Amino acid sequence: MNGQPLVYLDNAATSQKPQVVIDAIAAFYQKDNANIYRGTYELSQRTTDLYEGAREQVAKFIGADRSEIVLTAGATASLNLAAFGYGLPVLRPGDEIAVTAADHHSNLVSWQEAAKMTGAKLVYLPLDLGGKVDVERVKKEQIIGKKTKILAIAQVTNVLGTNQPIAELINLVHQAGGVAVIDGAQAAGHLPVDVKKLDADFYAFSGHKMLSQTGIGVLYGKKKLLEATRPLFFGGEMIEEVGLTSATYKKAPYKFEAGSQNVSGAISLGSAIDYLTEIGLDKIAAREAELGKAAAAGLRAIPGVRVYGQGGGIVSFNLAGIHPHDLATALDTQGIAVRAGQHCAQPMMNFLQVPGTVRASFAFYNNEEDVSALITGVKEAKEFFH
Ligand code: PLP
Repeated sequence: MNGQPLVYLDNAATSQKPQVVIDAIAAFYQKDNANIYRGTYELSQRTTDLYEGAREQVAKFIGADRSEIVLTAGATASLNLAAFGYGLPVLRPGDEIAVTAADHHSNLVSWQEAAKMTGAKLVYLPLDLGGKVDVERVKKEQIIGKKTKILAIAQVTNVLGTNQPIAELINLVHQAGGVAVIDGAQAAGHLPVDVKKLDADFYAFSGHKMLSQTGIGVLYGKKKLLEATRPLFFGGEMIEEVGLTSATYKKAPYKFEAGSQNVSGAISLGSAIDYLTEIGLDKIAAREAELGKAAAAGLRAIPGVRVYGQGGGIVSFNLAGIHPHDLATALDTQGIAVRAGQHCAQPMMNFLQVPGTVRASFAFYNNEEDVSALITGVKEAKEFFH
């Protein structure tokens, strides 16, 4: 990049793909491509088995049953399905949806819209300076209470990498009789996830952030809740019977997967899951945190750099007097790819009182040389600008 070897530090936006995943996608198109469910011929049957096999792998990956796994286009599609498929029918005027300012727009704005359409109200949970929900205050002030129908929150936030206390929050919302929708876009593939242990009601994530191709994602939902969720798209194999004025639909998860399915996406996700599982999610979490911590320490040691937070492989920072976009552009000239701006989290920028940040996000396949490149890069950019 710009004549330099690439140092890819934008893994929270999307991950790079290992060769096995690329090979799995190529092999599918070379040998197994057909439309699924519809064919009576052997090839279509085989393709259907591959797609359903991927669903099974996803289920195992997060400790769920295959009937609870909806394959979607990504975390945004999953969160929209939760908000409009589940939220709209159950929300009433005066009901409360608990969210945080640290959440991604895909989560926040879906619930803003659902609130507008139903007369429900968004309630923002208090955050400490590190962007973590202050559970003690939530309890003391009974912010999650009788009116709370839904808690919608990221397990790991995308700006600071904060690991939210979701187990406690899920417990609180259940005591209040509500439902927890967890945005796992920055958690799945980065740490072990067990939806049953967490007791999450819905859990959303994207394939492309965890080594698979783009355009595939997951919405886990407890069986009873998925049954109560309305489909957002109609047509194709989600149909059971069609009359002239109405139709009936298949059971979950099929009723949510209208049209022709993203088979290569599902296969690539299954392959990514195999790869990640073989390495071990505990090991991945430890390695990403190690790299993130080293980067944060190195950046903090540069006078003028302010690190807003670091969690796992995510580090957000700024250099005094330099706009984050300018710093990111200077790093790009050195081959270092980082994200700069608001990170689809404007309320979080307001919370931090900054127009934006530079975000470096490490994956387990980065290394100490990448950390050094970032630190040297920021030092050189500082020399250049000052
Ligand atoms: N939620 C969080 C926390 C994210 O970081 C992202 C992507 O950056 C999303 C949701 C949306 O994911 P996608 O763009 O893959 O739908």
